[in-house]
Amino acid sequence: MIDRATLAAHFATIEARIVAACARAQRPRASVTLVAVSKLHPPEVVRLGWELGHRDFGENYAQELRDKHAGLADCSGLRWHAIGPLQPKNAKYVARAATVFHALERLDVAQELSKRREGPPLQCLLEVNVAAEASKAGIEPGALPDLVAAVRALPNLELVGLTAMPPLSEDPEANRLHFRALAQLGRTHGLAQLSMGTTGDFEVAIEEGATLVRVGTALFGHRPA
Ligand SMILES: *Cc1c(COP(=O)(O)O)cnc(C)c1O
Repeated sequence: MIDRATLAAHFATIEARIVAACARAQRPRASVTLVAVSKLHPPEVVRLGWELGHRDFGENYAQELRDKHAGLADCSGLRWHAIGPLQPKNAKYVARAATVFHALERLDVAQELSKRREGPPLQCLLEVNVAAEASKAGIEPGALPDLVAAVRALPNLELVGLTAMPPLSEDPEANRLHFRALAQLGRTHGLAQLSMGTTGDFEVAIEEGATLVRVGTALFGHRPA
């Protein structure tokens, strides 16, 4: 498990890179939220991050989110971001634990989330298959208008933005056109939040308008197998 000093150094490095990317894009630093992706790392790692002052953490798996949410309930101000694909039967865990859900792509899941949600509306982003990858999650851009309208009609969800999870690449520039396409779709549909960019390409994503970047490996190291 990563130690406190190393984690603090990683947060400082990523923060400096975010600040620099915002400066290049002439954007205020406050327009970008760093979501620290803690999936498959033990809850103690999240607690360390919280003690260092970080508040936004991302999890992929609904049961793991449920367990970490329960185990870290005393960490006040901690916001959970559910970022992985979700089945209707697991929607209740996300509805209870998450502040933001980044990977909405099915109306039945949206309905289940709205039904199960108590308290403030769950902020949702629709995941778009920007790179048109056959194997990938996310909806086709052409299917967006109908899903946007249907989700906006649900009472306990607040549709705030769009998410892209384009191909992993060694080259940070490789996904710039996909990030740009997502930003354009966001403007078209009046959705201000853009969740895009991971360890390999979050600076390019910020240059193209990301408001949420999802960084795991660069903060916490490689995930345990
Ligand atoms: C795991 C994951 C991340 C973090 O990826 P890193 O390369 O470790 O930064 C971001 N987004 C999603 C959807 C993920 O599943």
